[in-house]
Amino acid sequence: MKSNDIVIVGGGLGGLTAAIHLKGLGYSVLVIEKKKYPHHKVCGEYVSNEIMPYLQSLGIDLKQSGAVAIDTLQISTRTGASIKTELPLGGIGISRYAFDMLLYKKALTLGVIFKFETATSIRFYDDLFEVQTDASVTYMASIVIGAYGKRSGLDKVLQRDFIENKSSWLAVKGHYSYPDFPDNLVALHNFKGGYGGLSKTESGNINFCYLVNYQSFKEYNGIEDFNNEIVAENPHLKTFLQKANPIFDAPMTIAQISFESKNAVENHVLMCGDAAGLIHPLCGNGMAMAIHAAKIASEHVHRFLENKSYTRNHLELDYETKWNKAFRQRLWIGRRVQSVLLSEGLSKAAMATAIKSPKLLKSLIRRTHGKPINV
Ligand SMILES: Cc1cc2nc3c(=O)[nH]c(=O)nc-3n(C[C@H](O)[C@H](O)[C@H](O)COP(=O)(O)OP(=O)(O)OC[C@H]3O[C@@H](n4cnc5c(N)ncnc54)[C@H](O)[C@@H]3O)c2cc1C
Repeated sequence: MKSNDIVIVGGGLGGLTAAIHLKGLGYSVLVIEKKKYPHHKVCGEYVSNEIMPYLQSLGIDLKQSGAVAIDTLQISTRTGASIKTELPLGGIGISRYAFDMLLYKKALTLGVIFKFETATSIRFYDDLFEVQTDASVTYMASIVIGAYGKRSGLDKVLQRDFIENKSSWLAVKGHYSYPDFPDNLVALHNFKGGYGGLSKTESGNINFCYLVNYQSFKEYNGIEDFNNEIVAENPHLKTFLQKANPIFDAPMTIAQISFESKNAVENHVLMCGDAAGLIHPLCGNGMAMAIHAAKIASEHVHRFLENKSYTRNHLELDYETKWNKAFRQRLWIGRRVQSVLLSEGLSKAAMATAIKSPKLLKSLIRRTHGKPINV
């Protein structure tokens, strides 16, 4: 059993960013990730620009990877009534296949160690962590960052409250070739029981990813049937589904997506990204939040490891406070916006208000996004 300064469980955006940041400060960093890179992930693949200055400070330039600049948002109701607005900060379109791979390569260059295993338990005693994996290996560390995403077997092991509750959300995603789609647009189209996002990625293909309530979905005979009967009721999505050619053999799906509150620190583990809280996807901000949380966690871990008078207690309290200050309100607004969007009557009324007052819509977008991160 070799001891590391830091073990990061989960090598998605939050985990990889923290690994790059902390390795850059000279610590020994080990990432435990269950899947080899590159791989596709269910995600809308629109990244808010708020994290660009921070990524650049870590030596990562997404625009050079061919990511597409996006500055306009279109929203439509089930019947197709729609509004377009400029995105105050804007963002980029990049697939998770490319984004996670880019960060993985950067981390490897810096000397981060990767173990492609599944973490099965995290124990803390005598001021040290023991992380066990399905390869029957135990890794020791002074710090563990939990960046293992929205739902994992580890949540059961750590006895987190949200894991006991069933969640009724599922998501479907695929890439499509569809030449007519503008580079600079992210479109959010409503349908009964859910909504879907369309935007271009670095490959030139369009990502179509939707979130739907399982109750609506289960009445139909699979994805194709649901797409034809419900998704295509929205005329924008009907045109897309008729004209677009799928790139994947079959769409990807994930179920049991929970938007419940979680703690940012659990059993002394600093939770980062979706493991600390998932924002509703319509806000298009989860990736930026995971990356921002990695920055907050890394800065506090650095302070703890270099300063003997800054205790673990200080570290945990400060991280939780900073996390809540940065994200708790965004999560709350995201929940409210989603409930409006999914109610037919309210979404019509909200659209009418947004058409009359585009300023209101921009203010809402600002409140679910952060400001560019100071570095
Ligand atoms: C339908 C949908 C659409 C979305 N659209 C957008 C969008 O357009 N824009 C946006 O900004 N955000 C979006 N999000 C949110 C975004 O995908 C997440 O917020 C982001 O991926 C969080 O990153 P993360 O690093 O926390 O988790 P992840 O990227 O999920 O990474 C977690 C990693 O941990 C690994 N892992 C899990 N358990 C273990 C284990 N026990 N041992 C080892 N490894 C483990 C997984 O393999 C994975 O690689 C969307 C989310 C959903 C559900």
